[in-house]
Amino acid sequence: MNINCQCGAGQEHLAQFFANGETDFRLCGVCGCVFRERFPSPSELDQIYRQAYGNENIGAVNTNQESGDHATLNYARHLLREVLHPGDRLLDYGAGTGALLHELRKFGVRGDGLEFSENARSYCLAERGFALRSNLRDVPDGYFNVISMIEVIEHLTDLPGTLKEVHRVLAPGGQIFVTTPCRTGLRARLERGFWREAQKKFHLFLFDWRSINFHLQRAGFLDVRRKVFSPLQKPGWKFWVYSRITQSIGLSGTLCVLARK
Ligand SMILES: [Zn+2]
Repeated sequence: MNINCQCGAGQEHLAQFFANGETDFRLCGVCGCVFRERFPSPSELDQIYRQAYGNENIGAVNTNQESGDHATLNYARHLLREVLHPGDRLLDYGAGTGALLHELRKFGVRGDGLEFSENARSYCLAERGFALRSNLRDVPDGYFNVISMIEVIEHLTDLPGTLKEVHRVLAPGGQIFVTTPCRTGLRARLERGFWREAQKKFHLFLFDWRSINFHLQRAGFLDVRRKVFSPLQKPGWKFWVYSRITQSIGLSGTLCVLARK
């Protein structure tokens, strides 16, 4: 099969990435991205997300998609403390069932969300009382001051196109906050093709610092920088210590990046 990386690099720049577990990932020597050789078709993806966002999973906070209450709170605190300014208009891109927005709205944040899953959007409207967007088509240029993309970028079928669109709706001087699993983290290095994040079929890309930097800059974002922040999926001091150590030696499982327009 003849495939190219979405950065435009051709077959000659691609190499097999994992030799075990999930083996359809390719590494691009130009942008540093790792991506699936074959993306699931739209109907396959639809089925994967339908399953993930089935009502029984949503109710049990078991969508395999959202990080749970503890992480949501940590994301909200981090955004409030480090990224958002009073009066900012936020877009949560890939809002899931709206959990993060729900939390931020308690602090008076003017937030808007975009979500592709119809199930997740209906849940948000019914349970949380606000609607999420399904696309950005009618959003004017420069409408948002802050855009968060939390554990979303690895799912995108059109990475450059989506980043361009996100860049369009961000105001000049506005900030984008991105988190994604880090393929050079400790667990990824140890578990390789059996790494939990590689096994998820809807993870189409796996990033490291170089590749996320490349794609954000190419979409026009400036001043791309890595942030030391881990959402801590679980409470407790052991997880805190683990996360601090892995971050300080560059082996954290989460890549957290801030950039501006
Ligand atoms: Zn590439």
